[in-house]
Amino acid sequence: MTWEVVIGLEIHVQLNTKSKIFSGSSTAFGAAPNTQASLIDLGMPGVLPVLNKEAVRNAVRFGLGINAELGRKSVFARKNYFYPDLPKGYQISQMDLPIVGKGFIDITVDEKIKRVNITRAHLEEDAGKSLHEDFSGMTGIDLNRAGTPLLEIVSEPDMRSAKEAVAYAKAIHALIRYLDISDGNMAEGSMRCDCNVSIRQKGEEKFGTRREIKNVNSFKFIEKAINSEIEWQIDELESGRAIHQATVLYNPDTNKTRAMRSKEEANDYRYFPDPDLLPVVLDEGMIEEIRAQLPELPVAKRERFIRDYQLPEYDAGVLVSDRELADFFEATVKAANGAAKPASNWIMMDVLGALNRTETDISASPISAAQLGGLINRINDNTISGKIGKQVFQALWDGAGASADEIIETQGLKQESDSGAIEALIDSVIAANPQQVEQYRAAEEAKRGKMFGFFVGQVMKVSQGKANPGQVNELLKKKLG
Ligand code: ADP
Ligand code: MG
Repeated sequence: MTWEVVIGLEIHVQLNTKSKIFSGSSTAFGAAPNTQASLIDLGMPGVLPVLNKEAVRNAVRFGLGINAELGRKSVFARKNYFYPDLPKGYQISQMDLPIVGKGFIDITVDEKIKRVNITRAHLEEDAGKSLHEDFSGMTGIDLNRAGTPLLEIVSEPDMRSAKEAVAYAKAIHALIRYLDISDGNMAEGSMRCDCNVSIRQKGEEKFGTRREIKNVNSFKFIEKAINSEIEWQIDELESGRAIHQATVLYNPDTNKTRAMRSKEEANDYRYFPDPDLLPVVLDEGMIEEIRAQLPELPVAKRERFIRDYQLPEYDAGVLVSDRELADFFEATVKAANGAAKPASNWIMMDVLGALNRTETDISASPISAAQLGGLINRINDNTISGKIGKQVFQALWDGAGASADEIIETQGLKQESDSGAIEALIDSVIAANPQQVEQYRAAEEAKRGKMFGFFVGQVMKVSQGKANPGQVNELLKKKLG
């Protein structure tokens, strides 16, 4: 049987406003428990929420970023349920009239562009947090998070694999960071994903019954959780059982999903418009002002990188995944006199590799774009070889000098391009390896390649890597005959 996978994502994004969505308390992460929860966040009797304008502006920025129909008039509603971290007994959210309507985002999977439709995005408040670890036999409640503004982004069930779901989540992550509406920090809970998954027979029109994996907090886990859920659903159906709608949790330790509650147990939220809040009516002037300030977004930037720098699609995709990384690339190309592909190679291999190893963010990179560009220039004008370039890169990374030039100078790394000097090195290698020279000269053409490499290696070695490799090759061929 051939199964088709159907996935829709609900992504919660914490907006980076300084204060909460309906109160003036701070949203800063990591404060001592319950020091950032005001009477409004606690839902004390008699208090009134006041809407944070920045949260509205952030939602509008997002709406424009996905080419959405904006909800010119949106309404806050109360979503009623009981939970210890929700002292009001209801969450303020949006139901019938969200602030962002239908839009879309383009993702790239296996070098193909696919459009994912977005159903809606609405504003709501985050709940507090239950803390289970620090208290034996008890649960602590931290209400600092209560009232933090959230944008919930709901996709259409347009994804057809875990890979597409991850590409979509990454595209949303890049977009919110480009728009500067959230830091997108998944480890701190600034972006959380609910993954709705169902399967159906290939060719079938009706969707299968979905199960929703709650609160997945890394790209890696999105992929693993969805794949394990797909396997489970296929197994159920092929064993003759039916899938029942349910909310499930993913356990990374067992790589399995486990039902949390079924549809029958699902809450009836008794939504109704919040009488304490007026409908939000968007001002056309404000929308246009925000539109005019939008930065170049990842999809457009990617296209420009391919077109203007002649980069392969893969490179462009990696480089635009983060706005600061893209800026770093462009600054490097500029410093490297337009050498785009070398800049891309160095950044993807060496810079990202070293940042990864040291768990450093590109914004804190020890090597600057100007330094990297300078290094590329010295390789391009043959002052040093690519191999020595790696050494200079490491030295720059370690702060051993202010520029590639300085390091090349102080460490004496300049490439030897004087043919007389290189010839002398070759002569010494030939003199030291008479047997190999004899074998080489006796060998058939087809067998010479590897033997030739031996001589190149020896010459490079006696030159301490500094001989110009092109010249070494050329002169060696002449000398060996
Ligand atoms: P609810 O309001 O109950 O959460 P929605 O209709 O809003 O349900 O859907 C929530 C998410 O589930 C959306 O992202 C949607 O694309 C996705 N979804 C809906 N039906 C399916 C399905 N059969 N398979 C996979 N995903 C689905
Ligand atoms: Mg939902």
